[in-house]
Amino acid sequence: MKLIFLGAPGSGKGTQAKKLAQILNLEHISTGDILREAIKEQTSLGVQAKVYMDVGELVPDEIILGLIKEVLTDGNKGFILDGFPRTTTQAVGLENILSESGMGIDKVLNLNVSDSAIVERLTARRLCDNCGSEYNLKTRPPAIDEVCDNCGGKLYRRDDDSAEVIQNRLLVYHRKTEPIKNFYRSRGLLADIDGNQDFDEVFGSITRAVADIK
Ligand code: AMP
Repeated sequence: MKLIFLGAPGSGKGTQAKKLAQILNLEHISTGDILREAIKEQTSLGVQAKVYMDVGELVPDEIILGLIKEVLTDGNKGFILDGFPRTTTQAVGLENILSESGMGIDKVLNLNVSDSAIVERLTARRLCDNCGSEYNLKTRPPAIDEVCDNCGGKLYRRDDDSAEVIQNRLLVYHRKTEPIKNFYRSRGLLADIDGNQDFDEVFGSITRAVADIK
């Protein structure tokens, strides 16, 4: 099964994608995670990407498509793409990469969440620097301040979850990423999911939307 999770930053697509990937034994491919890892390792990819990520802009298409080409080498295993594609150029590029090995996307899950909910979620989001668990200071706070319930790791706020950068990420999302909904709708692949519901309800909608895929 080959899926794409679409949605604004903070729509919950990452957490939902991780859970679905675990249950269906699919590879979870998050370009954001790959780029953050590259920044940590200070690779040349990381150095190039950081400049854009720090201000909430998109990393250029050529860089992202080069990265995806490297990652999608195992043609047979199912996967979930999370945070990619983010522009029409990337969507067309992905189609070309997949068609070279006779593959195609089965479905695109589009999580709709209002901008006001996104801002609220992202400003309150905290992550564990050890195991990556996600918290929300308002709706899912840790038992002990700044400490991960799962592993005792330290919680941190992502650099790009500051108020100004969130505004720009939303702007960029509406301008550059939202148009690809029509790209996939016209191919009959788009499934709209109401991402404003609570986590389990959203997950239920997602599992129903993929239930008919072989
Ligand atoms: P994410 O973790 O998906 O919210 O991504 C964090 C940041 O990484 C984004 O704001 C972009 O700067 C960059 N990024 C991640 N995926 C892509 C992509 N497919 N195209 C361009 N930039 C990306």
